[in-house]
Amino acid sequence: MSFRLLIRISVIGIYILACPPLCAAAEDTWIEVTSPNFLIISNASIRQAQRVAKNLEQFRAAFHALFPKMKLDPGSYPMVFATRNEKDMKSLLPSGRQEKGAAQTAGLFLAGPERNFILLSTDAPGDEGYHVIYHEYTHVLMNLNFRYLPLWLSEGFAELFGFATISDKESGLGKVRPEVLRTLQTASIPLPDLMSITRDSPYYRQKDKISAFYSRSWALAHYLMLGDKQAHSKQLRDFMSLLQNGVPEQEALQRTLGSLKILSKNLERYISSKQFYSYKIPMPHNFKDGRYDTRTLSSAESLGTRGIFLVYGDRLDDAKIMLNQALNLDPRNAAANEGMGLLSEKERLRAVRAVEGIPSVD
Ligand SMILES: [Zn+2]
Repeated sequence: MSFRLLIRISVIGIYILACPPLCAAAEDTWIEVTSPNFLIISNASIRQAQRVAKNLEQFRAAFHALFPKMKLDPGSYPMVFATRNEKDMKSLLPSGRQEKGAAQTAGLFLAGPERNFILLSTDAPGDEGYHVIYHEYTHVLMNLNFRYLPLWLSEGFAELFGFATISDKESGLGKVRPEVLRTLQTASIPLPDLMSITRDSPYYRQKDKISAFYSRSWALAHYLMLGDKQAHSKQLRDFMSLLQNGVPEQEALQRTLGSLKILSKNLERYISSKQFYSYKIPMPHNFKDGRYDTRTLSSAESLGTRGIFLVYGDRLDDAKIMLNQALNLDPRNAAANEGMGLLSEKERLRAVRAVEGIPSVD
């Protein structure tokens, strides 16, 4: 063994010892795809990252065709982390989403004060890949337009739009997936229980329960928005408008959707009829593949960008490691410096809370 080789092995040894699992990702090549309305950060292939951008642009156009008055553009582009596989996606999951027994995360929307993020893996099988993209982006759009939606409606909309069928000429809303129907037939949740589920409820956090919650929320959103030839959509609009004006949820429910007993009966009838209405959306123009600007990120840029996401995901220790790596490579890197600024602010808030005895909620 030569001296030079020995040194190399020792350096690698130190690197492995000193380096948490996150460091392995530093070896990846990350690219940035910029479409008119999205920024895709990806370590998947250029083709896959371009496809994510195209899907999002198509979905945005379909959503606009359906709701021309709704806001579509936040202050800055939604930043979309599209990883090449589920393992890489999981390495970026926010704090608390990796616990044992936690519901599996296929994708994720994270709202920050200055940016919105989407995290997803590009290796999801079949239509599931599109579903995750559309589902998470629906959260971005709803978050932009409504100051509060109850969880059942927020996830119900995200599932309903998540199953949209998007193509160049015509898109559709309301498609039923067989697995959703199966879950609806085998796992029921009484309506008052469904409406009281929060982000901390077992139905939202446990993997053996979450599909029942999503399916029933989808069915209720479907019934209210499209059911009986959209006969209930005005009630739904009125409900959302009362919430928007600060009316308490229970009062808004009573004033617009009426008795839960009757609503529950109608929903069960709708589900068992299997006559789900769907809606066709004409697409405004074609979206060609592979037309968006693409560039390779430097290691410092990719580490800095992912570091920002970890800060927003409340993984401050991991973020610090990643951001320091980025700054070691390039002290002037803009993303890493922005991430460090955000990190310092979060650490300061945590320290203030600790001194004041306030539990950390960020
Ligand atoms: Zn969701």
